Amino acid sequence: ATKARFMSNMSHELRTPLNAIIGTTHLLIQDNVPLQESEHFRVLKDSSEHMLQLVNAVLDFSKLDEGKLEFIHESFDLGSTLQQAVDPFAMVVQQKGIRLLLEADPLPEGKKVVGDEMRLKQVLLNLLSNAVKFTESGSVTLKTRVGEISESGVEIYFAVVDTGIGIPVEKLKVIFESFTQADAETTRKYGGSGLGLSICRELVKKMGGDLQVASAPDTGSVFHFTLRLPFEQRVMIVPKEKLMGLQKLDGVRVLLVEDNAVNMKIARRFLHSWGARVDTAENGRVGWDLFREHSYDLLLVDLEMPLMDGKELLTQVRKVNKDIPAIAFTAAVYDNMYEDLQNHGFNGYLHKPFRPDEMHRNILRHLIKK
Ligand code: ADP
Repeated sequence: ATKARFMSNMSHELRTPLNAIIGTTHLLIQDNVPLQESEHFRVLKDSSEHMLQLVNAVLDFSKLDEGKLEFIHESFDLGSTLQQAVDPFAMVVQQKGIRLLLEADPLPEGKKVVGDEMRLKQVLLNLLSNAVKFTESGSVTLKTRVGEISESGVEIYFAVVDTGIGIPVEKLKVIFESFTQADAETTRKYGGSGLGLSICRELVKKMGGDLQVASAPDTGSVFHFTLRLPFEQRVMIVPKEKLMGLQKLDGVRVLLVEDNAVNMKIARRFLHSWGARVDTAENGRVGWDLFREHSYDLLLVDLEMPLMDGKELLTQVRKVNKDIPAIAFTAAVYDNMYEDLQNHGFNGYLHKPFRPDEMHRNILRHLIKK
């Protein structure tokens, strides 16, 4: 535990000065045309950015090690995510004289998926970067195939295919281990930390998939995984009769604390439609003031908020009231989340984006318990 904490503190500490170095270098170059041509400055910029990538990798690695990496669930457009993953390599492949291809199966018209777009992109960028690095001729392809589709979600197969140097059979297992590279010669020639694939494998695992590789020396490699991604549920267009069927929450007094105006509006609208009385606060501090002045039956509290976040608010509330049910509103997922929230005084949580019937069920359950 001490090691993990040290790694995570150290990489945080290293990031601060590095950000300053990178930022200043960019500013200097931006404002000064002769410097843009300077080889020294190009090296300074590239090296500092490279170092930041390494530090970030160590940070991710130590967080994964501690089970602390948080995943968010937000809707995104998969097509543009894939495009954004290949775009950064356009220049390098041109210089190397290899082709970069994106072969993506389209999703049903207008459908968005829900997941952690940043983490998914991080995995794809990493695999693509390796593929480009280890390919001297031919092509690198990012492929997706749409598998089973249901009303709630879709199964997607992702693959990064290259025609590069490949990996010998006996090395196929070890490359996923931390700090391991296929051989010392590769390290000398291509550099790298040996952390990339082990992080990718963990990230994919946390997203519900399994990163695998198939490869043959001098033929190329395929890194692939399959994820099941839920479709975005459009909360605004739930048919009215579905809401009408739900039990009324007449007279229930709810304090809704949420800094995002859109989420706030949506949640309030549903609560009103069930007959609840709702007071709203845009951060924990305003919420705390309201809580002291009025009496409520239930708290619905966002976690991430400016001034006073959800956990701080609940800590205050629990000092004076142990009984009022409190539900956390959250887009994050992390290990031991339920226990962590309970330790902070919450009785349960509701994922964002939420479905109205889920919200209703959740609220009712806590009111009945009470
Ligand atoms: P590194 O930072 O060293 O690239 P990785 O964990 O990303 O660390 O990769 C580990 C090793 O796996 C690499 O050093 C390389 O030997 C091998 N490898 C990864 N991807 C490929 C690929 N597309 N083609 C050939 N070898 C690869």
